[in-house]
Amino acid sequence: MPGVLLPSLVVPEITDRCDRCAAAAKLVAALRSGGTLAFCGHHANRYADAITRVAVQLTVQAGFAWRGTAQPS
Ligand SMILES: [Zn+2]
Repeated sequence: MPGVLLPSLVVPEITDRCDRCAAAAKLVAALRSGGTLAFCGHHANRYADAITRVAVQLTVQAGFAWRGTAQPS
């Protein structure tokens, strides 16, 4: 269901690397099960639905438009 908002923290820069492809991460998800997963822009969008199901909190790099976050416009 669209519009589910997770607590998210916007930061100027994320220094992690994507867990899928090692590109610079744009989003870090804190998981229900504990631990975190980092995603580049490409993978954050590709796995957006899954991320919203398993994450309890997100850290998003400023300026990154993630499709898993409901945008006002
Ligand atoms: Zn990636």
